[in-house]
Amino acid sequence: MADAVEVVVNAGAEHGEGAIWHAQTHRFYWVDIMKGLVYIYDPAANTNRAINVGQPVGTVVPRRSGGLMLAVERGFAALDLETEALTILADPADRAPRTRFNDGKCDPAGRFWAGTMSYDSGVIGAGALYCLDADHKVWPRVANVSIANGIVWTKDKRTMYFIDTLAYTLDRFDYDHATGQISNRRPLICFPETQGFPDGMAIDAEDKVWVAVMGSGRVFRYDPESAALLSTVELPTPQITSCAFGGPNLDELYITSSTLGLSPEALANDPLAGVLFKARPGVQGVPADEYAG
Ligand code: CA
Repeated sequence: MADAVEVVVNAGAEHGEGAIWHAQTHRFYWVDIMKGLVYIYDPAANTNRAINVGQPVGTVVPRRSGGLMLAVERGFAALDLETEALTILADPADRAPRTRFNDGKCDPAGRFWAGTMSYDSGVIGAGALYCLDADHKVWPRVANVSIANGIVWTKDKRTMYFIDTLAYTLDRFDYDHATGQISNRRPLICFPETQGFPDGMAIDAEDKVWVAVMGSGRVFRYDPESAALLSTVELPTPQITSCAFGGPNLDELYITSSTLGLSPEALANDPLAGVLFKARPGVQGVPADEYAG
């Protein structure tokens, strides 16, 4: 069980998301989706740089050749950290109208996976999960997705877990590390709808998953194979969106949150909504993979 959760950045994020720690640079990256902001938190300097990319940004991952990769409204994009120039590398031809890119991460081979969702709330199945290879070719991998969210791979590089929020499930796929093909989909965890919306996800060194559940004020640690709930981290605000292990020993859990949909009165009563938090959950994470292209 975690001890006290601390406030890391009170940036007034509208909808903090996309948590990822980059071990090579000791930076924590996150986004504020509809504001089009990419944040770079430097714990040594205690600074949180904001870069406005001019369109909604669903997630961020480090790029091996330098800079960052983003899943923005209109596709997969590269962000130059010196010029802050954004270059769209691929926008899938089959992406449905009134959709935007949302959450995603890189697989152990350095492919960038990210999925889409509808702008119209409650629309089922308008999104898809895509995979961007290192050569910038993009492949649709899962159709009929409602809100593409948490995605992780196991240590043996043979299994991928993926959350479609409006399906309330964590699904398992066999993952082919050499080709990026996935197969044999089946649901492992069915999240209780009364608890909130299963959102972002991290995986730890024991192949257990940490799921941020929007509306619950908690991050839940599950054994994905048995669906057993192992532990929880409690946050002082309900709208919890994503999480990632970070810090020099990968034993800190960074957790993003959201003010989305809160009235001014509700916001006044919930001053920690939108804050970036950090917990010490008692286990280590694994280093995030960079985009290889
Ligand atoms: Ca999300």
